[in-house]
Amino acid sequence: MIMELPKEIKAYCKKCKKHSEQKLKVFKPRKARVKSIGTRKNLEKHKSGYGGKAKLIATVKKQNKKPVYLAECNICKQKSYFVIPKKMKKTEFKGT
Ligand SMILES: [Zn+2]
Repeated sequence: MIMELPKEIKAYCKKCKKHSEQKLKVFKPRKARVKSIGTRKNLEKHKSGYGGKAKLIATVKKQNKKPVYLAECNICKQKSYFVIPKKMKKTEFKGT
């Protein structure tokens, strides 16, 4: 099932403290940095001691995810998450 979304929505902006027109973009998470403290500490902790694994082996991945978008305010350019609270295979912008 494909769900169609409008390119612009009217939603509440925390910075403007009122409803405003906001552009929708697809949210893509970036890779975690290798040298950041969080990843370094976790690896060292797991590797120390007797035995143990540094990384977990992935099992079955979930097929459907909740789609996440970035909503950008047209007035102050503040970005916020726009999550559709339902699992969906595919979403599309209207008129594309
Ligand atoms: Zn705003």
